[in-house]
Amino acid sequence: MGYIEPAPIHDKANPFDSMMSRFDVAASLLGLDESTYNVLKSPTKQVIVSLPVTMDDGSVRVFEGYRVIHSNILGPAKGGIRYDMDVNINEVKALAAWMTWKCAVVDIPYGGAKGGITCNPRQMSAGEIERLTRAYTSALADVFGPDKDIPAPDMGTGPREMAWLMDEYSKSKGMTVNAVVTGKPLVLGGSLGRVEATGRGIMVSTFAAMEKMKINPYEATCAVQGFGNVGSISARLLHERGVKIVAISDISGAYYNPAGIDIVAALAYRDGNNGTLAGYKGAEIIPGEELLFLPVDVLIPAAKEDVITADNANRLQCKLIVEGANGPTQASADAILKEKGIVAVPDILANAGGVTVSYFEWVQNRLGYKWGLDRVQRRSDRIMKESFERVFQAAQKYDCSLRIGAYIVAIDKVAQTYHFRGGY
Ligand code: NAD
Repeated sequence: MGYIEPAPIHDKANPFDSMMSRFDVAASLLGLDESTYNVLKSPTKQVIVSLPVTMDDGSVRVFEGYRVIHSNILGPAKGGIRYDMDVNINEVKALAAWMTWKCAVVDIPYGGAKGGITCNPRQMSAGEIERLTRAYTSALADVFGPDKDIPAPDMGTGPREMAWLMDEYSKSKGMTVNAVVTGKPLVLGGSLGRVEATGRGIMVSTFAAMEKMKINPYEATCAVQGFGNVGSISARLLHERGVKIVAISDISGAYYNPAGIDIVAALAYRDGNNGTLAGYKGAEIIPGEELLFLPVDVLIPAAKEDVITADNANRLQCKLIVEGANGPTQASADAILKEKGIVAVPDILANAGGVTVSYFEWVQNRLGYKWGLDRVQRRSDRIMKESFERVFQAAQKYDCSLRIGAYIVAIDKVAQTYHFRGGY
């Protein structure tokens, strides 16, 4: 369960438009002028490279790789690298922009980027993936850099690929440059607390929202969709702090126990059962999607995108949604949530604990120093709390949802910085 940064967007038809639909609402509330709007909308740099790689059978295959820097207004660009057959320039563009807003919401000094290679890593040997990763790094050696553009893992990549990337980049510079990439193995300069960072940020956001909504955590019930890195860690941390987790789910189905699920036991069961909850006896099994519609105070979708839609939002009974996954709520459902009075803490805020600790990894690498777990957690908790408060205040000021409030905070920050820096 590696750290993934950030999100799949599955509107294959036009992922960029999908990302822009909420941006547009926020830009208009903010009164963003047309020229700034056009600047913020357009990616700064788009690179496409051809990567010839010798396969294990001696043949040479040419892969296509991409890197898009959406914005470097706030600082060096930051974003993951995805290995998947569906990777294409439009998707990479959309995900790069998403990173710009996510970093700006939590006020870390990064722009947004994303990269990818169209390939199927599941059908490649480790040696082939290594040669591909090194070819990609070498082709982009002038784009990447600790002060320019800092990659991280995403779908299909993890600490192993980041180690190869760091090594290849370092060779090209004739020295070790571990700050060029985050999500590295701990021994190579990865940060303590990174694996738990996203779930921990979800816990902090949930508590911040419950406080505003006057929901008593000791009386609150919660359902968590997805029991992987984000879902299971969020569930454990909330459970440890007195929230009653009544339902959890994974690809095998949903498990419901109104009296509360023993999360520690469920985690132990999953870990001894090939990573799945299949056969878990501590709760009644219900159809997977039904978890979303249970009568709970808090719902945490932490599995995949597009699970709350205009077609099913009417069935929700929760008071609060905290988005662990990226893009779990379709834009078309926003109006229904508003009508039903359901508060949603949006993905670009709620799950930004991961990118925050990635930022700490980069800071530690540049300092040449390692922080203890306690320092990482204290600082990331503070960033998450302060970011929640900023978004909450923006939502009050503009009389809008927390989601649009988050976009307002992000766009305002990037636009103001752009005005000070100036263009041509
Ligand atoms: P993961 O692979 O560790 O876990 C995914 C979980 O979802 C698994 O338990 C899987 O069985 C379950 N799942 C898949 N389909 C499901 C379905 N239809 N119904 C119920 N459960 C289902 O992934 P993760 O790292 O926990 O990421 C989850 C989401 O959070 C993704 O959208 C990811 O982009 C986003 N995210 C992750 C991080 C991170 O740090 N890992 C950071 C930001 C955002």
